[in-house]
Amino acid sequence: MKAIILAVFLAGLGLAGAASALAAAPSGRDLPPGLVIPEAARPGPDFDVERATAAYLELLSPEQRRLSDAYFEGGYWLQLFGFLYGLGVAALLLWGGISRRLRELARRLSARPWLYTWAYGVLAVLAWFVLDLPWSIYADFVREHQYGLATQDFAGWFGDALKSLLVSAIVVPPALVAVYAAVRRAGARWWIVASGLAFVFALIALMLAPVYVEPLFNTYRPLREGPVREAVLSLARANGVPTDHVVEFDASRQTTRISANVAGFAGTTRIALNDNLLDKTSLPEIKAVLGHEMGHYVLNHGLRLTVYLTLVFALGFWVVHRLLDAALARLGPRLGLENRGDPAALPLAVAIFSAFLLLATPLLNSIVRQAEAEADAFGLNAAREPHGFAMAAIRLSAYRKLHPGPLEEIVFYDHPSGYARVHAAMTWFRENQDNPTANAPPTR
Ligand SMILES: [Zn+2]
Repeated sequence: MKAIILAVFLAGLGLAGAASALAAAPSGRDLPPGLVIPEAARPGPDFDVERATAAYLELLSPEQRRLSDAYFEGGYWLQLFGFLYGLGVAALLLWGGISRRLRELARRLSARPWLYTWAYGVLAVLAWFVLDLPWSIYADFVREHQYGLATQDFAGWFGDALKSLLVSAIVVPPALVAVYAAVRRAGARWWIVASGLAFVFALIALMLAPVYVEPLFNTYRPLREGPVREAVLSLARANGVPTDHVVEFDASRQTTRISANVAGFAGTTRIALNDNLLDKTSLPEIKAVLGHEMGHYVLNHGLRLTVYLTLVFALGFWVVHRLLDAALARLGPRLGLENRGDPAALPLAVAIFSAFLLLATPLLNSIVRQAEAEADAFGLNAAREPHGFAMAAIRLSAYRKLHPGPLEEIVFYDHPSGYARVHAAMTWFRENQDNPTANAPPTR
């Protein structure tokens, strides 16, 4: 077991060495700052949605589109290989006897089920982290650098990974204790109780993460005074987002991506913009993006998506319930696993659940993508910046394939594609040509 862990660690170090060689990443993939409105997208009697959309799409050079397609399509394979790698890790934990030994170690600490489950949880989180390391170094560090999306050196990235590990080591064990208590008490109906617990945990995470977790990774401070702050506050007031708490954070520490969010409930509601959005885009783009984010808040997507995703997870827990008992009957004695209440069997349950999640990818993506399309429509109406919205969609398409096929979009996209978003913006613009606020000459 020690030899395996050492080998995994050395593989990780090798990857890290290769990764530092990539430090100087290509940055020509990004569009220059500022809003560009193509000639064919300007208002007038000849305005045509298809032509305007095509003109926006051409803002990305063939080279930029090639890079973006390669990155995004590579992501499809990444999901499959990530799943297979995860199966390998689970197999190692089970057949290598690691999981069983961790449970024995935990039981030496205490014979009380909740206490040894807690201890097993901490140990399992550590073991998973170590065994996953080569894959996460490749997928989250090396590959992101290859495509010019990451900005951190290896030490910075690894420091963040250790912080995430710490959060997992605090959050995962009590969740496991609750689920295993349900497995012991609720018998064959444990999966129903576990689904309810997943719902409660997700809501707690949604509430606490912006306040307690995100500041571990980035610095948050009040958004600088100026026209952006004024515009964001005005959008918030106009759309019933009850807060004047607007912050910016240094996402450029980790990534070149642009983003923003509206998080929290009632008194903790907070609007956050990342510094890439502030530094690289124009005011109309920022208003368009914030209109979209406020849409998520006003349409109550946090709670609604938690309900939908809990239903999908409940199906997944039921699948685990059906398959786990059968698998344990066959493999249990050979692997030293007792029954479904034995935490040492967790890697088996995780393997089954991750297979379910892989198969459910189109469903999960479609649930999220539909909410994103709603937020898009809300944002267009709220911000009235169709060109800012189209430009932001093109900017995001520097790392999301711009124009997928219909089936590809259903299976792999958790947001509408760049093409779909620009087309929606130009359709909105056509229908609002007589609306003076939509026709105002866009300012930078
Ligand atoms: Zn969104």
